[in-house]
Amino acid sequence: MELLAKQKSLETRAVIYSKAFPFAIDSAKGATVRDVDGNLFIDWLSGICVLNLGHNNPIIAEAVRSQLDQVWHALEIPSEVRIRFLEKMHSVLPGTLNGHAKTLLTVTGADACETAVSLAKHITGNGTIVAFGGSYHGINQGIVSATSSRHYLETSGAIRYGVFHLPFPYSYRFPFPVEKRADEGKIILRYFEHLLTDDHSGLDKPAGIIVEPIQGEGGYILPPDDFLPGLREIATRFQIPLIIDEVQTGFGRTGKFWGCELTETSPDIMCVSKSVGAGFPLSLIAYREEYDESLPDGFHIGTYRGNPIAMAAGAASIDYIEKENLLRRVNVLGRKAKSEFQRISESSKYVGDVRGVGFMIGNEIVESRETKAPAKDRASQLRRSMFENGLLMHTCGHFGNVLRFMSPLIISESLLEKGLRIYGDAVRVLT
Ligand code: PMP
Repeated sequence: MELLAKQKSLETRAVIYSKAFPFAIDSAKGATVRDVDGNLFIDWLSGICVLNLGHNNPIIAEAVRSQLDQVWHALEIPSEVRIRFLEKMHSVLPGTLNGHAKTLLTVTGADACETAVSLAKHITGNGTIVAFGGSYHGINQGIVSATSSRHYLETSGAIRYGVFHLPFPYSYRFPFPVEKRADEGKIILRYFEHLLTDDHSGLDKPAGIIVEPIQGEGGYILPPDDFLPGLREIATRFQIPLIIDEVQTGFGRTGKFWGCELTETSPDIMCVSKSVGAGFPLSLIAYREEYDESLPDGFHIGTYRGNPIAMAAGAASIDYIEKENLLRRVNVLGRKAKSEFQRISESSKYVGDVRGVGFMIGNEIVESRETKAPAKDRASQLRRSMFENGLLMHTCGHFGNVLRFMSPLIISESLLEKGLRIYGDAVRVLT
């Protein structure tokens, strides 16, 4: 409490996480965090999908320690670690990017998305970006235009650039009547085709399409299987670069290395951040190599891009995921967790929907199953009661009413079960 009070006197009042989780951290290990009073918490936050390999992972720590003896900051000048990281990164790129890509290093998720949009505009010479309702791509002055939240648009004070938001196939709250779920994606794609082919539709020629394979901040929304491939097909036919934002879905989170691999969809430009640095700030875009030909020197720059310590952690992370067969683990434990979330939801009138894949599972909290009215206060109440019982679980979603499971991928089965018990107990007593 003392540290919280000090933070309050020194830092902006606009912080969010320390209000959602009012404690001070002493240390962390694996999927657990210890506070300064000695209490141990199970961590289902992973620093918002940054710590897929857990806190203080010894393999990452070793890679970082040995890099500390070499070089810490080197601009874009090549070093052994930079090349090692880039080679490993290129070896895991999805689909048609693999073996045919260039990379450009950035620092944050927003920075990567911002660069991706600039690249698409540069390649096509067009100005408008197509994004989706519920999307989150960061809140810097440029990219905030593609992020869908009115709150962030208003607080950033940015002058919005041309973005056309299509609806995302958010099944639980799809605005149009459909016979079956699979139709939702089709309707949106048909509408998109109409926008592109009718000169009076109101859509300018797009510079690019930016999409998350599973919406993260928007509420852990998994689109129907044919949605991303359909978008890919339209992007190819109309020669619009498809930007896939893997900032939250990458590095094994979904049970595939990349979220777009769930449906074998290849990006033209891909945004990578969060877990790529295993806790050290690092991000990048990977894009079709032919896009590189016309880029002027210094196309998009920044002093801190490609930090060597973060790249050492990144190279070790890729090794770790491959050697430990982590994707298999995420698939097996993710299925187990989802069926338990589903079981818990059946006995509660307040859990309206359980969705997602791998370690990316959303539980949408509502006032009642019939009205589906979003229950943000109940979701916050749940978060607080889990916190008091030693589990860190955060919210997201259009209405802040989705509790998301995003634990480190290395969590032990027994801690996962313990966390599920705490979640289940909290849901059971929810009034
Ligand atoms: N894209 C996605 C999909 C994200 O989830 C986020 C962050 N939650 C961002 C971009 C922005 O990343 P950052 O906060 O590092 O700017």
